[in-house]
Amino acid sequence: MMQIFIPLNFLGFVYREIKGSLTNIENMFKLLAIKSKTFEDGNAKNLELINACIEFKNVSFSYQNKKNTIKGLTFNIEAGKKIAIVGPSGAGKSTITKLLYRFYDASSGDILISHKSIKSYSLDSVRKLIAIVPQDTVLFNNSILENVRYGRLSATDKEVNKAIADAQLSDFVNSLPDKLNTQVGERGLKLSGGEKQRVAIARSLLKNTPILIFDEATSSLDSHNEAAIMETLKQVATGHTSLVIAHRLSTIIDADEILYMEKGKIKEQGTHQDLLVKNGFYADLWRKQSDVVR
Ligand code: ADP
Ligand code: MG
Repeated sequence: MMQIFIPLNFLGFVYREIKGSLTNIENMFKLLAIKSKTFEDGNAKNLELINACIEFKNVSFSYQNKKNTIKGLTFNIEAGKKIAIVGPSGAGKSTITKLLYRFYDASSGDILISHKSIKSYSLDSVRKLIAIVPQDTVLFNNSILENVRYGRLSATDKEVNKAIADAQLSDFVNSLPDKLNTQVGERGLKLSGGEKQRVAIARSLLKNTPILIFDEATSSLDSHNEAAIMETLKQVATGHTSLVIAHRLSTIIDADEILYMEKGKIKEQGTHQDLLVKNGFYADLWRKQSDVVR
């Protein structure tokens, strides 16, 4: 297995930190990278937006000294569609996002974006296609404005404001005496969990990528806040190819396709209705979660 991102291991960040810091790392790459001409071409972005389909072809992967975490995964996400991945903790769901983002390379098989192997793109250009909203977003002890602008440092105030509006954060921001200049505090502690996640969504939208990933982005919220954020996500995902990893199934029933994973393998796939009819793992989990609600 080839590890692409050695400095991360070297620094010994815990995994949660890595997930939370994705955006910072992206920006670090952005600052270091030499921009390719294709990406500066005026039409490039639109083309990518239309064509960002994703294909996993028989992908296997193991972390160092571990047995296979991902075992022969094959699935497609058509451009503009929303795929959900569900399954028990440790199934390999987040690993899929890390492979797509090229924190690691697959041990075998291939991952394609727009029908081309992600290995044929520069790291920087792959990462420009993908925005990730993780479970715990790292906010900097700075203003809301700067925290959102972190998604794309070159963005204008107008673009930042649009991202904030799309993340449905405008009412909250306008209710604050200092508006966008409000300081979020150390690690964003002055904001509620839901407000922090909306800042994270705004940051990701500002990045303006064809692919959006939500990795348990609402898992730490109560069910009321979760439902509100999922509604926002539904709206912002329009026109994006999106991958939603969710704990609570009620949040992903509208997905175009749901993959149920266990131990690194896809056990079932289909729409919510398909999987209920199938009456297997997914239906079982659905019943268990419905019991909790009742
Ligand atoms: P999920 O997101 O479905 O909960 P993950 O993809 O995070 O699962 O993890 C899949 C498996 O890989 C788990 O057994 C987990 O402990 C292991 N794992 C995750 N990250 C690492 C890592 N950086 N190094 C070694 N093992 C890891
Ligand atoms: Mg995970």
